[in-house]
Amino acid sequence: MNRDGARKSIWQEEIKTFSADVDIDQLFDVAVVGGGITGISTALKLQLSGKKCILLEAANIGFGTTGGTTAHLNDFFDTTYAQAIKDFGLNNAKLLKFVGIEANNIIKNNIREFNIDCDYEKKTGYLFALDEKQEKQLIDIVDGAAQVGHQMIYTNDIPFPVPFKKAAVIPDQAQFHPVKYIKALAEAFLNAGGFIVENCLCESHEEQEEEVILTTSKGIIKAKNVVYATHIPPGVNILHFMNAPYRSYAIAFSLNGDHYPKDLGYDLVDPYHYYRIQEINGENLLIAGGEDHKTGHTEDTGECFSKLENYVREYFDVNAAVYSWSSQYYEPVDGLPYIGKLPGSNGKIFTATGFRGNGMIFGTISSQIICDLILNIPNKYEKLFDPARIKPMAGAGTFVKEQASVVFDFIKDKIFIEKIESLAELKDGQAKVVKHEGESYAVYKESGGKSHVLKSTCPHALCEVRWNSAEISWDCPCHGSRFNVNGKILTGPTVKGLQRIENKN
Ligand SMILES: Cc1cc2nc3c(=O)[nH]c(=O)nc-3n(C[C@H](O)[C@H](O)[C@H](O)COP(=O)(O)OP(=O)(O)OC[C@H]3O[C@@H](n4cnc5c(N)ncnc54)[C@H](O)[C@@H]3O)c2cc1C
Repeated sequence: MNRDGARKSIWQEEIKTFSADVDIDQLFDVAVVGGGITGISTALKLQLSGKKCILLEAANIGFGTTGGTTAHLNDFFDTTYAQAIKDFGLNNAKLLKFVGIEANNIIKNNIREFNIDCDYEKKTGYLFALDEKQEKQLIDIVDGAAQVGHQMIYTNDIPFPVPFKKAAVIPDQAQFHPVKYIKALAEAFLNAGGFIVENCLCESHEEQEEEVILTTSKGIIKAKNVVYATHIPPGVNILHFMNAPYRSYAIAFSLNGDHYPKDLGYDLVDPYHYYRIQEINGENLLIAGGEDHKTGHTEDTGECFSKLENYVREYFDVNAAVYSWSSQYYEPVDGLPYIGKLPGSNGKIFTATGFRGNGMIFGTISSQIICDLILNIPNKYEKLFDPARIKPMAGAGTFVKEQASVVFDFIKDKIFIEKIESLAELKDGQAKVVKHEGESYAVYKESGGKSHVLKSTCPHALCEVRWNSAEISWDCPCHGSRFNVNGKILTGPTVKGLQRIENKN
């Protein structure tokens, strides 16, 4: 299985291909775009409720962040209950508490109904403060949780060898193997009569009176409703102004001896570190995550892994780092996800984005919310997560216009490429953005000496891409589009690759 990065995640070996011949020349009830936890959960729910669904995935199932997550199933979120009370009021914060419970129930029901072996385990969570500042934060978090009736109890013991000042224990959390889970959901979806088309990039849509016409890399696909479960909707949308892309790093370590902490742990460092264990091929591994930063804001992303590894080695008796990978998530501007009708659409297109580090839960609840919206069933979370709560921003019009006027003409000759290469002066494995005659080029030299020269302007909103040395990708700091060294799309919202500068000879 492939993932949207060069490094292999701990889950990656599990995925399989779901390619089959599908007659796309028919009207579907719903086309779900995106083969991560959100898309597959939604497609299955809709199919089981009687809709004829097709799931379209640009690469393969699990290619996006679901293949690079750490899959804690926690019902306390990156946006704390205290923050939610402040920003959305006590009643809404109480509603948020039920999201975690309900999403967990959906996951448990799916596991039961489809007999899924996905290493699901109930766990206890521990939040711990390492200094005085974090201690204040923890008190605030626990107070907020108490106000909404979410259980967090102070404790003097944590099962992690990290010195702490104050800690709280949170019962009834869980974890699972995300790819085993979505793979089984995809199989259940096919068994229920659904269709899956992989390697199918959705490039644009046109909403008509009775249906939506999707233009894809496999041809036109028509559906009465479309769900963009693409982590951030593709193309140009106001939601791109309301969500910032971040990268987070994870390493799975083998430890010396057998002292693996069996529960879930989170410190309150900014950005925080998170821990869990996972058994892979009969061996326990400690997965630690953290070192988050805005996408494109750190070029030496290898250093983020070093920092994470050094941090973990300080406290744990590490034997070896067995897997290390990074992935992307989206921070919504007001702290809560956007789930519902796609802004700008007239009611046939839905989306789910802005999950922060809680997409296992929010992706799962999205399946219920979007299914209810399509079936015209009232949903209690509909208003809380309504993307229409965002206010249109000045500048959105210009943004769209700029997007429409992008013109490409970059077929260059050998001398030109040599000039760019010499300006870049790269060693094998290095990359750089260079300016030449008012234009900007992204150059990568692979080991063996071959250079790849691309136009460095992201076709989505014309920002300049930046090098991600750990995942060997060009990442856009504005909205999180990512490309491989050939300019091919790894991550949306772009629906066009980076323009490659080809040698004419
Ligand atoms: C390192 C890390 C650790 C995390 N840990 C946790 C955790 O412990 N618990 C938790 O709850 N959450 C966690 N999260 C967040 C969570 O993993 C994500 O929010 C979640 O996986 C998002 O799932 P998704 O299905 O919405 O998107 P994705 O899994 O990204 O799936 C979207 C899919 O859409 C496809 N796609 C995109 N554009 C198009 C297009 N135009 N046409 C066709 N297909 C397209 C992509 O190829 C991709 O496969 C973590 C995130 C990171 C980065």
